Amino acid sequence: MTKRRPLVAGNWKMNGLKASVPEFGRIVDGCDASLVAKLDLMVCPPATLLAALAAAAPGSPVSLGGQDCHTDASGAHTGDISAEMLADAGASAVIVGHSERRADHGESDAEVRAKAEAARRAGLVAIICVGESREEREAGKALDIVRSQLAGSVPEGATGEGVVIAYEPIWAIGTGLTPTTTDIAQMHGAMREVLTARFGKEGERMRLLYGGSVKPENAREILAVPDVDGALVGGASLKAESFLGIARAY
Ligand code: PEP
Repeated sequence: MTKRRPLVAGNWKMNGLKASVPEFGRIVDGCDASLVAKLDLMVCPPATLLAALAAAAPGSPVSLGGQDCHTDASGAHTGDISAEMLADAGASAVIVGHSERRADHGESDAEVRAKAEAARRAGLVAIICVGESREEREAGKALDIVRSQLAGSVPEGATGEGVVIAYEPIWAIGTGLTPTTTDIAQMHGAMREVLTARFGKEGERMRLLYGGSVKPENAREILAVPDVDGALVGGASLKAESFLGIARAY
């Protein structure tokens, strides 16, 4: 059986000013040897804070990620940020296809896939998000929707090292609602099947995160689900205590 090292990644979304640097410091301080022995910890702050967080804790075991990237390396794209720029600022990963980007910016699977390819070009791990809406789940379409998002959003030649998948049911994000562990197990099992059918051993090695209202109180139960290799955490990653509380559930 393939052993995958868990990843707990925090998505700060559009939250955080320079005053948040000490909170990151508290996450770094709490990432002690016992956590490092068990898992990878990552924080994805707004791009404006990447360089400051990288400078605040050089060589820290807590890695940094961006929240989105443009498909091009540079050029006339006012307001956009390339994967290369994120890497230059200290990121080793980037979230692509978050449901808020898919909804707010109309990002299609094809664009998400192009962004994941841009991440690979820049040497960043792509954390590719997928997940169904409430209507899709209620209509019994969740598995089909996610299978189709995976087919469209994950690039050819994806590897276990270069790609992480985050299953984030849209209705669970920031709502306090979570799927049952049976539903999470069913979805993660189906995702693993799709990925191994397409990528073989690399699909086996890919980490599958669950995201959506993960908190210290429910982390142990969720992280114990088969084929859940970690969590993508929004709200609870903004405070060191709750973020570390989730990581310590391992
Ligand atoms: C997210 O937006 O990636 C997320 C999982 O948010 P939350 O944990 O706040 O539900």
